[in-house]
Amino acid sequence: MSTHRQFNSKRIASFGETVFAKYTRLAQEHKAINLGQGFPDFEPPAFVLEALRAASTTFQQYAPLPGLPALSEVVAKTMSARLGLGLKPEENVQITVGATEALFATMQALIDPGDEVILLEPFYDAYPADVLMAGGVPKYVPLLPDVTGRWILDLAELTAAFNAKTKAIILNTPHNPSGKVFSSDELDAIIRLAHKHNAIIISDEVYEHISFVPHLSVAQRPGGWERSITISSIGKTFSVTGWKVGWAVGPKELIRAVRLAHQWIPFVVATPLQEASASVLTQAAKNDYYAKLRRLYQGKRDTLLAALKQTPLKALVPQGGYFVIADSSALDLKGDVALCEALPVQVGVTAIPPSAFYSKDHRHLAKHLLRLAFCKSDEALQEAGQRLQNLREGFKT
Ligand code: PMP
Ligand code: GLN
Repeated sequence: MSTHRQFNSKRIASFGETVFAKYTRLAQEHKAINLGQGFPDFEPPAFVLEALRAASTTFQQYAPLPGLPALSEVVAKTMSARLGLGLKPEENVQITVGATEALFATMQALIDPGDEVILLEPFYDAYPADVLMAGGVPKYVPLLPDVTGRWILDLAELTAAFNAKTKAIILNTPHNPSGKVFSSDELDAIIRLAHKHNAIIISDEVYEHISFVPHLSVAQRPGGWERSITISSIGKTFSVTGWKVGWAVGPKELIRAVRLAHQWIPFVVATPLQEASASVLTQAAKNDYYAKLRRLYQGKRDTLLAALKQTPLKALVPQGGYFVIADSSALDLKGDVALCEALPVQVGVTAIPPSAFYSKDHRHLAKHLLRLAFCKSDEALQEAGQRLQNLREGFKT
């Protein structure tokens, strides 16, 4: 068999296909309800689609490197209001190709080979890849569910993970996949450690507007701004994950570094999509959109939680984001991957095995877990709930 693997760089040699590509393909093959990959299966609001139509006929050439002024201005204004600071769009904001590129560019900008980056485990799967591609070394600190289903950050373990090599910690609040929203005390402890060890907090806040308890940006806590880069994007908030428009916000010197990396990655971001994003963010600030979004998702979360009550799966209640982690200990499984491979075929539902969000040494912690997305139509959630009732105690893989 001919292969070109011999040409692979060492940097990517340990990478496999992402779990999202695999399970969406399985969903399609088996016509299963896709509660796996996190993307809405419903239309974005009308004002969002209208903004895209309007933008399609205006700007067709490269945007400026920092981002289309209309967009970086509205991002700066929104964050300024949250932080009580006067941010400057050119200095404090970099528009990126989604949060994904913001994370990649940030890591390329900050991490040297051998630098350690702390990741809270479970983690969004791009983080270790981004750290490795920058030559960094991921260090894992566990988030563990307690008996009430709340995910606990062990501050002693976190403190022990910091040392002279620590360059950054990646925080994600609301957190994918656990649904945890970090408290002010937790954020303050992370900020104190970052100051003490001269480290940067890279704060991924893509679910900032899908939170059922108050969401706090790390940058709005005392001492947080000067130590952090805050990353978010348009995709989750406006149900347009395909737009891939995001941003990094932070102090001038940090954003300058991100921009130096960004200029050699995509150079700039698709202009019409930046224009549409600017219009959407401007309108959303005035039309009560964020409150409606929260209500929409609280309803969807509760629909899925109610449906899961009729099954042997035991759901942990998320505080934010659009995923539920459920415990499958009542079933007789080889593991979470075996369950998630069997689900689309035998039950007609797709979920994500959370072991994809753990390092190799800790994957066993996910053996009895699965992740279900509720960014789906109410009909899909109810039908998936019905189908999951076919899982009986003792279901075997
Ligand atoms: N961070 C987290 C925690 C996510 O769940 C996602 C999923 N899309 C991203 C980043 C990527 O965001 P974007 O689509 O804007 O690149
Ligand atoms: N963030 C989405 C999730 O966690 C998927 C993003 C992707 O497919 N890369 O499901």
